[in-house]
Amino acid sequence: MAETPYDVIVIGAGIAGLTAAKQVAQQGLRAASIEALLFGGLVINVNELDGEPHGSGTELASNLMTEITGLGVENLSGTVTSLARDGGHLVITADSGAHRARAVIIASGAKLRRLGIPGETEFEYKGVSQCADCDGPMFQNEDVVVVGGGDSALQEALVLANFCKRVHVVHRGAKFRARQPLVDAVSARGNIEPVWNTVAEAVLGTQMVNAVRVRNLTDGKTSEIPSAGFFAYIGLEPNSGFVPSGIKRDAGGCIVTNASLQTAMSGVYAAGAVRAGCGGLLTHAIADGNAAAQAACGTLRE
Ligand code: NAP
Repeated sequence: MAETPYDVIVIGAGIAGLTAAKQVAQQGLRAASIEALLFGGLVINVNELDGEPHGSGTELASNLMTEITGLGVENLSGTVTSLARDGGHLVITADSGAHRARAVIIASGAKLRRLGIPGETEFEYKGVSQCADCDGPMFQNEDVVVVGGGDSALQEALVLANFCKRVHVVHRGAKFRARQPLVDAVSARGNIEPVWNTVAEAVLGTQMVNAVRVRNLTDGKTSEIPSAGFFAYIGLEPNSGFVPSGIKRDAGGCIVTNASLQTAMSGVYAAGAVRAGCGGLLTHAIADGNAAAQAACGTLRE
């Protein structure tokens, strides 16, 4: 365990976490960032960011990473398994060791939810994907199925439409809930076909995916959509499994905070997609990272 505790440890190096770590370091406090995977979070799967800041997700994350490293933030690597209070300090235990801090910002983000239907796991990397930007070129002139009706489903359908013959957007409702510019862009593409009031029941294939079995919710009839690829974008699941019971979470597992982004455990703050009520946009993650850092630094100075 580190001899001297950090002032602040930020759990998660997605955009909210990197922003928080940068803000803490800019305020002259000793900060560390701990991440289990590659830095950047879900945004690194986006080739072209929609709105501000411009560029790719990887560029944004890399720039932030360079900045925080330059500011002296220590990059710890490891999967956090628990967080507890030990007297005046908070102790983060990870598979790589334990670390102490005076305050902790949880910015562990979220992962894409899975449908849990037959074939979804079996055909992973064999046609089932969660990254249109990375895997889209593999489906050149093929039909693919996208499930969902939110921003993610439509944004990724638009990416896939650049490569695929036809993108079937299977949605359980009769109207997309995505933002209007995305809905308009999808309507304007001749090779994106909404499949309304329909759910995916199974991903089918032999070696690779070759069809998706769907069920129409209006008449109950099932049919198969010939398809080489399957992409489910049905919302996010917070990475909050390590969060102790003393920190309140909502029914979906997101951390509940007060307006200052403070959790129910003193000295622990939450920011970004893991926090209940944080919007899903990049600007929300950045705002959350800054706000949590301001609150943590303010409390430490008191
Ligand atoms: P979301 O907004 O929660 O939408 C999930 C979609 O999946 C909904 O259409 C929902 O249907 C459907 N769905 C949920 N569970 C399902 C199930 N079991 N079976 C079939 N369909 C199911 O999730 P998201 O699109 O991933 O977006 C998450 C957040 O990120 C949002 O805040 C979004 O604004 C943000 N985001 C922003 C951008 C951008 O700014 N460019 C891009 C991506 C995401 P119903 O509509 O019937 O509920």
